[in-house]
Amino acid sequence: MDATPTSGGVPGGDATPASGGLTSGTDAAPPSGTDTAPPSGSDAAPPSGSDVAPPSGGAAGVDAALARAWVAAVAASVTAHAAELTDLDAAIGDGDHGVNLRRGFDAVVAALATLEADTAGAVLTKTGTTLVSKVGGASGPLYGSLFRALGKTLSDDSSVTTFGAGLRAGLDAIVRLGKAEPGDKTMVDALTPAVAAFEAATSSGLVAAATAAATAAADGAAATTPLQARKGRASYLGERSVGHQDPGATSTALIFAALADVT
Ligand code: ADP
Ligand code: MG
Repeated sequence: MDATPTSGGVPGGDATPASGGLTSGTDAAPPSGTDTAPPSGSDAAPPSGSDVAPPSGGAAGVDAALARAWVAAVAASVTAHAAELTDLDAAIGDGDHGVNLRRGFDAVVAALATLEADTAGAVLTKTGTTLVSKVGGASGPLYGSLFRALGKTLSDDSSVTTFGAGLRAGLDAIVRLGKAEPGDKTMVDALTPAVAAFEAATSSGLVAAATAAATAAADGAAATTPLQARKGRASYLGERSVGHQDPGATSTALIFAALADVT
């Protein structure tokens, strides 16, 4: 069902002009110090230099500011790629994936603008609950479970290792809900290798892990093209689903590309 903009679907109920900072990604350095201040290596430079190795062993975790930057980057990316996602979904589904995600992440940006809590866990949990309530398609509950499980895992600790464990919990939640396995031509085909790549690279720090995950997700998404769908709406097409990249796997790749961008 593509229609049904649910009752109060007004994206921006309390007006909050989308907290800015979208494309700027890294410049952020928001005020909220949070508990895990990064070790003061060089106080001037922000901790996110793209080619600068992070302090050894994942000291730089995911704080609330980074979680917010990630979600804002996902929202911007989903908006920029909405037409592409919708075209992919029109080929093997009902053509609403881009619309669904754009509406969902617009709502997330609005919700986060008024969220006072400033831990990564709270930010990502709020992201998940908002997606569940605002996105009508299958992808809403699925991505909602991912972010909720991730947020919950980060409640006490937001180190890189714990973030990897949170991604694993998110994947497990999606599989529990949707029952898809790798090879079924769903978002799980991008998420599974992305989580594995992140976990494998955690000892190299957040930037390396996020970059590895982004590459693995993109490869996983591309690899869905020759598959025949066995889950979701596309499975109704049988063999005619072959030859098209899965929209959900494609949006998963965008989510990890956004993570790599902001780290
Ligand atoms: P809908 O299919 O309800 O229109 P969307 O278009 O927003 O929802 O999302 C479609 C995407 O959701 C698919 O491309 C696929 O990646 C993902 N998906 C659908 N069903 C499942 C499932 N059971 N498990 C995992 N992912 C699924
Ligand atoms: Mg759809």
